[in-house]
Amino acid sequence: MLKEYNLRFHHLLCLPLFIGEGYSDDFSANMQYVKKFVETEDPRLRFICKGDMICENCPNRRPGGCALDSTDSTVADKDRRVSEILRLVISDGVSYSKALQAAHSLIDKRSFEDLCGDCRWFRQGLCSYEKWEENAAWTVYSLSHKTK
Ligand code: SF4
Repeated sequence: MLKEYNLRFHHLLCLPLFIGEGYSDDFSANMQYVKKFVETEDPRLRFICKGDMICENCPNRRPGGCALDSTDSTVADKDRRVSEILRLVISDGVSYSKALQAAHSLIDKRSFEDLCGDCRWFRQGLCSYEKWEENAAWTVYSLSHKTK
């Protein structure tokens, strides 16, 4: 049986935009590792609305979930909203490239800004729909042309 890795739905928005900034050095190192892994290996992923392989090294992680949820409940809610947008095309066990392709075709600028507008990285100007759309399209293209 193929190994499956867990990814929160909303991390389909974060991974294409990650450029090294994070909640701690440990977090950023792990995020960079996961980004490289999914963008080169295109693993089979199980999409979830709770802690995943990115949350593992995050200082915001709490036994009951994410510390950011207790302040403004944006994180779990964001997962649910992305899952609602992608529900018809993503089920348990799908490659990163297929999930990203689905997100790329279903999430427009308005939905992106609705989902990400309250995030500190968006407010700091590190993220935008245009950058996400371009990076996601490039990753999908690269993985689809990868020599197996
Ligand atoms: S614990 Fe919260 S802030 Fe940290 S990566 Fe997970 S969802 Fe993001």
